[in-house]
This record gives sequence, C-alpha cells and structure tokens, in this order.
Amino acid sequence: MSADAETTDLFVIGGGINGCGIARDAAGRGLSVVLAEQGDLAQATSSSSTKLFHGGLRYLEYFEFRLVREALDERETLLVAMPHISWPMRFVLPYSPDMRFESDTPTARLLGTVLPWMKGRRPAWLIRLGLFLYDTLGGRTILPATRTLDLATDPAGRALQPRFRRAYEYSDCWVDDSRLVVLNARDAAARGARILTRTRVVSAERAGGLWRVVVDGPDGRREMRARALVNAGGPWVEDVIRTVVRTRATGGVRLVRGSHVVTRRLFEHDRCYFFQGTDGRIVFAIPYERDFTLIGTTDMDHTGAPGEAHCTEAERDYLLAFASRYLATPVTAEDVVWTYSGVRPLYNDGASSATAATRDYVLALDAEAGAAPLLNVFGGKITTYRRLAEGALAKLAPSFPAASGAWTARVPLPGGDFPWNGVAALTARLRGRYPFLSEFWAGRLIRAYGSEAEAVLGDAGGAADLGHDFGGTLTEAEVRWLVAREFARSADDILWRRSKLGLRLDQAQAAALDEFLRGLATTAGAMHPAA
Ligand SMILES: Cc1cc2nc3c(=O)[nH]c(=O)nc-3n(C[C@H](O)[C@H](O)[C@H](O)COP(=O)(O)OP(=O)(O)OC[C@H]3O[C@@H](n4cnc5c(N)ncnc54)[C@H](O)[C@@H]3O)c2cc1C
Repeated sequence: MSADAETTDLFVIGGGINGCGIARDAAGRGLSVVLAEQGDLAQATSSSSTKLFHGGLRYLEYFEFRLVREALDERETLLVAMPHISWPMRFVLPYSPDMRFESDTPTARLLGTVLPWMKGRRPAWLIRLGLFLYDTLGGRTILPATRTLDLATDPAGRALQPRFRRAYEYSDCWVDDSRLVVLNARDAAARGARILTRTRVVSAERAGGLWRVVVDGPDGRREMRARALVNAGGPWVEDVIRTVVRTRATGGVRLVRGSHVVTRRLFEHDRCYFFQGTDGRIVFAIPYERDFTLIGTTDMDHTGAPGEAHCTEAERDYLLAFASRYLATPVTAEDVVWTYSGVRPLYNDGASSATAATRDYVLALDAEAGAAPLLNVFGGKITTYRRLAEGALAKLAPSFPAASGAWTARVPLPGGDFPWNGVAALTARLRGRYPFLSEFWAGRLIRAYGSEAEAVLGDAGGAADLGHDFGGTLTEAEVRWLVAREFARSADDILWRRSKLGLRLDQAQAAALDEFLRGLATTAGAMHPAA
C-alpha cells in the first residue's frame, strides 16, 4: 500500500451535497482538503431529491421554525449564486375541504384540543396562516408573495378536476441537485481541494494526533493523513462510524425512502402543483426537463442497503392515484417514462412515522482533548447545505485557528456569475455566437453551464466542429468537457447526473457513449480533471 507524504488539514468522506459543500467552504478558507467518494459525485441521495430549494411549507405543521426560517432565508442567497441551475417556481395549492392532517403533527394535536370539531381537518384559514408565515418568516426580496387563484379562470385550473375552484399560489425555487453537487466539487478543486471519485474510505484511525485514512481507489489502496475527519456519508453515516472509524455512534440515522415517477408532460404551464392527500401527506407535480412531469414523493422506512433504493410498484401506484385525485385526466402507469428513488438520512429523533421524522440536521463533533477531531453529519436538506457547511467549519474552527471566515454567501458557483434573471439574455447571446444551436440546445447548455457554455463550445462554427453527435444534442465536445472538468467517467455519470439526457437517448446511444468513454480512459491525461 502506498502512502501520501503530505498531511491534509481536512479529509471529507462522501461526495454528496454535504461533503462537497463542506470541501468547497473549507478550501476557500485556506485549508488543504481531500474528499473521497466511493462512486460518482451525487450518486446517492443528492441526485434523488425533489430538487427544490424550499422552506418546507409542511414542516410548519411540525413547528420546525428554525429549519424553515433558515431554509427560507437561504433560497434567494442560493438563487443568486447559481442562476443557471436554479430558478424561482410558483406552487399552486388547490384547496379542498377533504384535506386532512397527519394525526401526530403538533398542529393537528393543538387544533384537536382547542377546536375538537375540526379534528383532522386542514381548514383554509390554517393554510392561509401557514402561507402568511411562509411569506414573512425568511428574507424574500426576489420571490413574489402568495396570492389566491380562481381556478375557473386561471390556466392552472385547466389541468385539474372542475371541483377545485380555488387555489393558493406561493413561491419556492427549483434546483438541479446533481449539478449543484458537481459545481461545488469543481469550485472546491479550483481552490486547491483534491476530489477523489470512485475511491472508498476503508478505514480511519487516530494516531499521533492525526487521522490515518486508508482509501481504495482506481490506483489501489493508499494511506493518507489528515488533521480532521468529516463523515458526510449521508445514508451511510452510521455505517462509516461503525465499520470505517469504529467509534461509538454519537447519534442515529433513520433511513426514509422517497420515490418519484417521471411521466410524459401532463400540463402546459410552468407552475408546479402542491397536492394534499386525505392521508395527511403532500405530493408535488412539477414541470420537468421541458417535456416531462415529475411526481413525488413517498415516505417509507427503508430497511435495505442505502444504495439499493428503487421505486416499488406500490409506490408508483400510490403517486399516480394521489395525482389522479386532482388531475382532470387520470395519470396511469403507461404515462411513466422513468422512476427514481433516494434514501433520506434523517437524524433519528424517535418520531412515530417516517413523514414526521425531523428534516433538520445535527453536526456531532467527537473531539476529546488532544485527539484529532471527527465531525459526523446527520440529516440536512439540499436547501441548507451551504449553512450546514458553515456550521461544520464553525465546529472545526478550534483546530484551524489560521483559517479565514465564512465566505460562500456572496460567491457564485462556476458559470453562475450573471444576474439571477439573466438566463434569457445569456441564451440569446449564445445563439447569436453559435447560430446553429436550436432553442432547446442553447437553453439546455445555459441551464447546465451558465456563463461557461461558450467555453464548452469553443471556436465551433457549426455542429460538425463539436465532434461526434451522441444524440439529444450531446456532442463529443461536451463529453470531453464533462470528463476533463466535471469528474465524469461513465455514461450514467453523464446521462443521469451531469445531465438528464438519459430521458432522451436510447440504449444503443448510451452504449455508444460508454464505449467512447472507455476509449478516452486509455488516453493518457484525459481523465484527470483540471477544475
Ligand atoms: C426523496 C427525497 C426528496 C428530497 N427532496 C429534497 C428537496 O426537494 N429539497 C431539499 O432541500 N432536500 C431534499 N431532500 C434531502 C436531500 O436530498 C438530502 O438531505 C441530501 O441530498 C443529503 O446529502 P448528503 O451529502 O448528506 O448524502 P448523499 O448525497 O447520500 O452523499 C453521501 C455520499 O457518501 C458516500 N459514501 C458513503 N460511505 C462512503 C465511504 N466509506 N467512502 C467514500 N464515500 C462514501 C456515498 O457514496 C454518497 O455519495 C430529499 C431527499 C430525498 C431522499
């Protein structure tokens, strides 16, 4: 086994949003950082979310005010830092008197005591109150406030059954979750971090005031030394504590599976529906990748291995039936083009149901005097990743007195250095310089790469200059960019995480891409990211 000569300040286990967010923040404060991810970046929970920067309207019913305020505050900070991969979205919440609470929310219990005849109901005035809080709790200067819709006249009513007469419309934001992860990793690398993908951390032990970390990667086993260790293993966080670090767990994780279905496009506008069920749960139907609709999610305790989550037939049928109680034309299994599933690594607060388990995060520091610190990350939302990273660095600050302070709130991610509402202008500029791009192609490139789209295309004067066409507007030039700059190695990395072109390419096209990537891998230097 080889050993690195240098000692790193911080070693991060896990290339999901929390690990990459912490690595970026730490590198920007002047710390030397290594991050190891056992598979591809964002291969687990961080590519399987509902993809919302949101305060979490329903968490208000659980009185999770700290989490909701922090997440609401965060939405616009994130939107401004990454206007290419995130954008404001309006949510249409149709009102029906059938709506019910989950019975064990604090709000349901309070209402049941004060107004017993309302037991279990979610009345309109309560939803209005919740939306008022949602509008006012966190800083909101860009996103418009809540309004009431008459569904008989508003276009959002057309896709719904006529029994829905009224709806509330409020604001949250959309984000491409897996691109968020890779852009954080790129920015970390640009600030000096080493990002090792397909590299599993096998063991970590304290020795002489340092961590000795053994990793298993493409070049075999290697030992590395670090002053501090962060366990951002997501659903594997407990597994890392027990089998890699072999210390006593400082907290527990509750694995809650959430599945989504993607259907053909079900409605023509760009707003999202927020459906409330008679079982107290809520489900979103969201415009997705231009030609599709995303419906989710479920909440099921997950007992299998974290990497083995998939949407069961029962979950698929539950989501389709849920949406069909609202939609004018029922949605069926024939409409489904793809499903995906992820496992929420929730902090185990002993809640009775998976829906009720807290969505807040816990940063547990294990740092006895003189011993190298270990920080275990439990829970967290995509929306709060930047704040979680700041919290993690604050916990580790005593070990790094020379590190500089918090900085990420004001600095754009790669490609995000343009105004939050500047996508249309940037797309028009791109089409001006590259007239051969279709509207879809140019829009897709700007949404993925923002101000870096021109760097992806280089001096191309026509589509032929971009090399092989893999289908769906994916060209060799873009593939080479993803390999050289974004740590992509396989067709799945490119088709399902760096993009969602997997929805548009067939199996033969995906196989051709895989073959091309295998050829590239044998070209010396081609697979080493240059940030
Ligand atoms: C269905 C669903 C919907 C959601 N919707 C939203 C939403 O709309 N908005 C929102 O804000 N949040 C949402 N979330 C929450 C959010 O997705 C998660 O909180 C977040 O992605 C967790 O990120 P993570 O980095 O902690 O975990 P992960 O993304 O799972 O990353 C952990 C990584 O650690 C790696 N790893 C583990 N062990 C090792 C090892 N020994 N060596 C090397 N690597 C290792 C794994 O391979 C994995 O990639 C949702 C979650 C789910 C499941």
